[in-house]
Amino acid sequence: MRNNSLRNIGIIAHVDAGKTTTTERVLYYAGKNHRVGDVHNGNTTMDFDPQERQRGITINSAATTVHWRGCQINLIDTPGHIDFNIEVKRALRVLDGAVVLFDGVAGVEPQSETNWRLADQYDVPRLAFINKLDRTGADFYRVVAMLRERLAVLPLVLQLPIGSEAGFVGVVDLLTMQALVWHSDLVDAPFAVQPIPPELAELAAQYRASLIDTVLEQDDAALLAYLDGATPDVALLGACIRKGTLARAFVPVLAGSAFKNKGVQPLLDAVVDFLPAPEDRCWQAAGGESGAGELANQSTSAGPLVALAFKTVNHEHGMLTFARLYRGSLRPGDVVTNANGGKRERISRIYEMHADKKQEREVANAGDIVALVGLKDTATGDTLCDPAHVLQLESITLAEPVIDVALEPHSVRDSGQLARALQTVLREDPSLRLRQDPDSGQMILSGMGELQLEVTLEKLRSVHGMALTLGAPQVAYRETIRNQASLRYLHKKQSGGPGQYAELLLQVAPLARGAGLQFENRVVGGAIPREFIPAVEAGVRRAAEAGVLAGFALVDMQVCLLDGSFHERDSSAMAFELAAAAALRQAVQQAGLQLLEPVMAVEVDTPQVYIGDCIGDLNRRRGIIRGQQERSGVALLHASVPLAQMFGYIGSLRALSSGRAQFSMQFEQYAEVPAQIAAQLIG
Ligand code: GDP
Repeated sequence: MRNNSLRNIGIIAHVDAGKTTTTERVLYYAGKNHRVGDVHNGNTTMDFDPQERQRGITINSAATTVHWRGCQINLIDTPGHIDFNIEVKRALRVLDGAVVLFDGVAGVEPQSETNWRLADQYDVPRLAFINKLDRTGADFYRVVAMLRERLAVLPLVLQLPIGSEAGFVGVVDLLTMQALVWHSDLVDAPFAVQPIPPELAELAAQYRASLIDTVLEQDDAALLAYLDGATPDVALLGACIRKGTLARAFVPVLAGSAFKNKGVQPLLDAVVDFLPAPEDRCWQAAGGESGAGELANQSTSAGPLVALAFKTVNHEHGMLTFARLYRGSLRPGDVVTNANGGKRERISRIYEMHADKKQEREVANAGDIVALVGLKDTATGDTLCDPAHVLQLESITLAEPVIDVALEPHSVRDSGQLARALQTVLREDPSLRLRQDPDSGQMILSGMGELQLEVTLEKLRSVHGMALTLGAPQVAYRETIRNQASLRYLHKKQSGGPGQYAELLLQVAPLARGAGLQFENRVVGGAIPREFIPAVEAGVRRAAEAGVLAGFALVDMQVCLLDGSFHERDSSAMAFELAAAAALRQAVQQAGLQLLEPVMAVEVDTPQVYIGDCIGDLNRRRGIIRGQQERSGVALLHASVPLAQMFGYIGSLRALSSGRAQFSMQFEQYAEVPAQIAAQLIG
């Protein structure tokens, strides 16, 4: 069934669905570990960061390599918490396939849905593993139905659970029509292959018939033979499952309990049998002098190097850059070009990673995921390539940070050290932003959520030894314009000494939400010499970053430089930069300014009795209820609520529901702040 011996796989899921536990089992069964780490004891292999162990969550996605049935599996563990969404994105960007874990009780949770859509975006073939089937309330069939309803996929059930909750002992394999039964919960307990229990025989036969109907759609000849009465064998069905999985016609579904050591070995078999090898995937160049639009059908070690840097981490021996090779090969000592900045970089070492341990490699080939040492100017999303054949892969898009926190070093001496520490931290996590508040001079760190900022600050304290005081987290408001406007601006100073002269005509126009700031130069005929254009753009960006209405960055607008004039002797880059900043400030005033705030998609899970109180409370927070569902006595509310109203929400939700309701939230969009509230903020 297997056509190549490498798999680059991610494990993705909602927080607590069991990624870390499952990964530990995978490492054990694949022979990497001689004992099984446990989240409860804080000794897992993949969560090696002290904070991960302390908080019991996965923050950094760690890469590791295991071998199963002669196949090398590069495994990336990714965090489920939405604050660390960048980790999931950059993993998906370079992976060929994914295992998505679902909690057998909770089923498809909000973050599994978000991550699922992300995997759709990157066109990643998937397997679903319904975990925790030993838990009270677990229901395999309900989760399968949720996959169909909430994720709109065709679940292809490959296994049925044997026994339920505490009595869950194994699975029926619908391909071989055998039962796999574990007689103990111990990690090294072998499973027995035995006949299907009689009470499941009929159900298994039904599911197998439907499985055959679905998968033979992948092979016309086999389908015809089947309709003529031929019985498809296991190898043929397996080949069809692989084909349909790669084409994303359906999603194979497996069952198990990682914690009770059941179902993990068949999951590894399925990874090898049904998920893609690098050869099965294609990649496309997005730009670059040699190859815009160049399309390669597969990863191949022949040809000039193309690799994508997807993560940088600060390691005891310097920066490690994780990269995925798409074409060609790489050896220590090689010089590569970073297509995103044009700089040349030298690779000094190449490592294969096993959690925080690493093994040196003499060569890395297309399809490999490795850690590189020696790169100085390479950031997440940059393409590394052969200097003689420069092309760029599509980068990794980042969501806008929505929460700000002010950082105050305890002494002036600390502030230089803080700047250096922040540089490292920002390189590791490109979804963080840093700026200086023009009024207070404070450093403002922005991120996706409170947890992400907390973890970052803890890192600044513990890893970098910084003594810091923090401001309270603040909402990251934005400014934007309502209409189009154009403005001619003359900057002219002639009071002795060299003069300053710059004239320009700027036009500003609103863009769609999320479009950011776009600058375009439309000057023709040398009205402004080309060497001054970058200064104009810099002036525009600097003024936009500082904001005009209330000190928040200006976004979602296009700024066009239409015309201008210069003076042979008195014009300079400085004069054009100053002119551009002043012109922008005046032009946006003319265009009409408005304030935007981040609005979050909030999901509240509450026992039915508290639903009225929950809705009332959300309404008081300027929330809009989008929908309401019910399943087994529990109500699920969907609402859109401004982030400004969500600080401390967990406390009041607990209070009004006697601690029984839960919620999750993620960024939805920036929306206009109501006039009354905007007036207060501006005041
Ligand atoms: P992650 O947040 O997705 O990495 O999840 P963890 O692996 O940290 O697991 C979260 C919690 O669920 C831990 O307390 C695990 O022991 C528990 N857990 C994981 N898998 C299972 C399972 O199959 N059955 C049960 N009962 N608990 C599990």
